[in-house]
Amino acid sequence: MFRKSGLQRRKEIKAARLERVKRSEVDVYSEVVPKGALPANTEILREINPLERLPNFYIDRHFICKDCESHEIWTAKQQKWWYEIARGSIASKAVRCRSCRYKEKRRKEEARRVHLEGLARKYNK
Ligand SMILES: [Zn+2]
Repeated sequence: MFRKSGLQRRKEIKAARLERVKRSEVDVYSEVVPKGALPANTEILREINPLERLPNFYIDRHFICKDCESHEIWTAKQQKWWYEIARGSIASKAVRCRSCRYKEKRRKEEARRVHLEGLARKYNK
């Protein structure tokens, strides 16, 4: 009997989840928290975003990575962390997949290093 590898199985689970998330249209301002959603702590959110309209809950969201164009899910749990623990602006959203986020981080670090070296050369002659 053909047995699927763990990797293959995980890929299928991810694809199925992605399709489900892509199809869902949810009003995050609704008072009714749907199944699978995480309630938002609006008190914390209000401190960070005093002028914004705030969601009542987080739900898994589909997005396309701006660098590699892969289809990704920004999970409710990741959103709650981003907005309430990391205190990201409510206007900010996930735009890159995990590996492109790391690449971008390294690219910025490298650009910063080159910039600082340039400054050092300029002023330490
Ligand atoms: Zn990507």
